[in-house]
Amino acid sequence: MEDDAQDLIEEQEEIRYFIDADWYDENDLSFVDIVQARMCPQCQARLGEEEEEKYPVADRKTGRVTYEVRKTRFGSRPMPQVQKDCARKGGFIQPEMPVLEAVFRILLANANQPMPLAHIREQLREWCPTARCQWILMPVDVMRQVIERDHSYGLRRYELPDVA
Ligand SMILES: [Zn+2]
Repeated sequence: MEDDAQDLIEEQEEIRYFIDADWYDENDLSFVDIVQARMCPQCQARLGEEEEEKYPVADRKTGRVTYEVRKTRFGSRPMPQVQKDCARKGGFIQPEMPVLEAVFRILLANANQPMPLAHIREQLREWCPTARCQWILMPVDVMRQVIERDHSYGLRRYELPDVA
């Protein structure tokens, strides 16, 4: 009996969660818009600004790498910007935010790298020094159920590809 309980704990620690961008397509939602809405006010003010981006191009014959410039719009790929800027600013996650919103933002702050719930909770704790936030007080099992039942953020279990 005790062994079973231990197995269950180990199994749950291995479950990782991520934001499934395909879920947004399937539900006619724009993942880009939804991430842009989580940007800090400074970044939101810059949305759509034209930017020049340098990117490397290798010459097939000589193998030499040169740089070409292409024009992009600021925030057209919002997740890297959120990770390097907005998620590092105060107020990115606030105590009164619903638990799913807070979990969603933690995943954005980590560039949507699949994360076990324990790591998500560790990072949430940093946003709640008083430890009185609802998502800190929520027991881990309850939080797991809330995430598993999510119908509005595209949160999913990350399935490891089968190695056959
Ligand atoms: Zn920002």
